[in-house]
Amino acid sequence: MVAGNWKMNKTLQDGIALVSELKALLADTTPKCEVVIGTPFIHLATVAEMVKGTPIKVAAENCADKASGAYTGEVSAEMVKSTGAEYCIIGHSERRAYYHETPEILREKVLLALANGLKPIFCIGEVKEQREANQQNEVVKAQLEGSVFNLSAEEFANVTLAYEPVWAIGTGLTATPAQAEEIHAFVRSLVANRYGKELADNTTILYGGSCNAKNAAELFAQPDVDGGLIGGASLKAPDFKAIIDAR
Ligand code: PEP
Repeated sequence: MVAGNWKMNKTLQDGIALVSELKALLADTTPKCEVVIGTPFIHLATVAEMVKGTPIKVAAENCADKASGAYTGEVSAEMVKSTGAEYCIIGHSERRAYYHETPEILREKVLLALANGLKPIFCIGEVKEQREANQQNEVVKAQLEGSVFNLSAEEFANVTLAYEPVWAIGTGLTATPAQAEEIHAFVRSLVANRYGKELADNTTILYGGSCNAKNAAELFAQPDVDGGLIGGASLKAPDFKAIIDAR
């Protein structure tokens, strides 16, 4: 899978233009991977309508940790699903850092996404100080145990994982292919311990963090790197297309 994460970028009009451009670029090809674009809430219904009949799927970047009711400004998983979106990014490091989303809150979001038929793209990853202290394995293990390893195997089968070292997000510093492979293999081993080898082998584990048209092929060539979650480079259709082609 190659999934874009627009973050808080693009007006509705600019988002429509970007999707039109991407659709045109993909028109004559059948991507070898699943293609997902993660957009702000306000774009979802329009973009979902625009990509009908194409290989492109749509993701929200977040959903509420409550089902419905008096939570002004929040958008529920049920509302996301009603737009035609199929995926929901949950636990992005920016949500954890700037909006104080705890493992418990993220567990609720994952459960609500699944209960409403959305497939979570669950993000994990260590910050720079943790990598420098060689704590990345214990960090991602705790993140998985805190928010998704409570799921049944049937539920977990709908979860995509995205390993995103926080020190690499938007910084231009990319994990080396060897660093990515090492931790992706570790994450897969954790999934195997919890859910068995078959489910672990079928789990999609994306790499995210300054992945671009130049470095994508080398990262995606690693056996446990099943694609990418792409921030900055998903905002330019030709760059995003080049990353899709690299998978
Ligand atoms: C992201 O935000 O998920 C991300 C990977 O961003 P970037 O590609 O810009 O580093």
